[in-house]
Amino acid sequence: MGLFGVGVQRVCAVVAATTASEMSRQVRTALRSARTIELRLDWLRSDAERLRFLRWLRKRRHASATFLATCRRKEGGGRFAGDIARQLHWVAQAREAGCQWCDIEMETFRELPEGFLRAYPVPPRILLSIHDFDRTPNLPRNIVVARHGLVDAVKIAAHARTIADSVRLLKVARHSRNFVAVPLGDVGLPARLLALREGSELAYAPVAEATAPGQVPLDEMLQLYRAHSLNRGTHVYGVIGDPVGHSLSPLLHNTGFTARHLNAAYLPFLVHRLGDFLKAIPDFGIRGFSITLPHKQAILKHLKECEPLAAEIGAVNTVVVRRDGSLYGCNTDYVGVLRALQRKLRLQGSRALIFGAGGSARAAAFALARAGATVCICARRENASKELARAVGGEVIPRRALRTESFDAILNATPIGMHPHEAISPLSAGELQCRIVMDLIYRPERTKLLEIAARKGIATVSGVNMFLAQGFAQWEIWTGKRAPEAAMRRAVLSALRWRS
Ligand code: NAP
Repeated sequence: MGLFGVGVQRVCAVVAATTASEMSRQVRTALRSARTIELRLDWLRSDAERLRFLRWLRKRRHASATFLATCRRKEGGGRFAGDIARQLHWVAQAREAGCQWCDIEMETFRELPEGFLRAYPVPPRILLSIHDFDRTPNLPRNIVVARHGLVDAVKIAAHARTIADSVRLLKVARHSRNFVAVPLGDVGLPARLLALREGSELAYAPVAEATAPGQVPLDEMLQLYRAHSLNRGTHVYGVIGDPVGHSLSPLLHNTGFTARHLNAAYLPFLVHRLGDFLKAIPDFGIRGFSITLPHKQAILKHLKECEPLAAEIGAVNTVVVRRDGSLYGCNTDYVGVLRALQRKLRLQGSRALIFGAGGSARAAAFALARAGATVCICARRENASKELARAVGGEVIPRRALRTESFDAILNATPIGMHPHEAISPLSAGELQCRIVMDLIYRPERTKLLEIAARKGIATVSGVNMFLAQGFAQWEIWTGKRAPEAAMRRAVLSALRWRS
């Protein structure tokens, strides 16, 4: 058993607010799901608020929880403006209020005589914290924390500029005891989620406002990623992209894993440089990943083998990591377009216009052409339109002809109208001379384009249907099982509706 317990006890809910009443509200919220709680006393806006909050805490005596008091000074990256004496005063007050642990930053610790803290009435267990908000420094192979020595545990929180930085910090966790690893920043997020699995005593997650960059909210840490139950047997998957924070793929895939009781997790990897991620695949034990912008084409040269169709499309959105570490790529956007459209239109013999000539337009064009449709391309770059039309045996349609030409289906494969630009449409009502309009955009679920089409009495297909279908196909490729489609669909639709 670890220093803080097992399972959910190792996820530390961070409670941080400027007022005592908001702090107490957050404690009550945290206690619904967490058993270990950090109290950021330095966030409270005045001594009066600190006093009020600690009085409240003392009266409650939450016996089943472990509280860790932090009153970090500005010098150590916190918000407390007082000196060390005042800091220790508040940490000692926190002990009186029932806190069993305190977090003392290195900037304070090194100013104190050796052994001073053990003799001072701070909470009996001390976590020494070291922060670097700018980079991940050189790290030793392991950290030795002698139990009942000067401190009980050591935490290193360091900004990960690269995925390799976050891997270095996780390796220290793997080789140390009584150690807490906190990779900071958006690039470090997957490592944060895997820290417990690598042996970190704690993973931090805020109840409300983030207190450090790249944090995952408490409910997501516990319910979406189940960070407390990941272990060495967990199969790790993910999505790589830049940006990637908006992606609903973690929700889609993790819902599937939970519904099928699989020991697997799907994480979002913010990847600036593809090589940085590829090197980390063995360290994280990644079995497969989805690819979004801007890496869909660049991944091709790193694959040992590629599904011929994906090679023809020139874009891969799904990678399987084989046992020998080699990469196999395929494209499920193709299946996604087909499954989404086939329900409403017999593709064989139809005439479809694709607006745009980028990665998803290519997947759509190949899918429709293979299904027997005549494919027309309209894009702002003439060369791109011509090249794609030639590749699928289709034709180029100039924009001005859209008012007179008619089609069975029109597909938008540009990002125009995507969140947060919901008010705009790539095409006007007069340009929609067709029976069906499909928007590949899935956020929002109902775009301006689809609204305009519906108003004209044209049938519509949301990009959500494609997103779901391409995701189900990925899930099945990786797991070899049937995807629990209903549960996955419900989770994504409710998240989309809740966000809009
Ligand atoms: P992409 O490779 O960057 O291609 C975007 C295309 O849109 C290019 O042809 C681009 O033209 C064109 N474009 C961009 N801004 C434009 C503008 N203001 N006016 C005219 N044309 C413009 O992107 P992608 O991967 O194909 O993605 C396109 C959209 O599809 C995104 O919204 C994405 O979220 C969505 N998508 C959805 C799914 C799904 O599962 N539902 C899957 C994949 C993609 P230039 O080349 O001239 O820039």
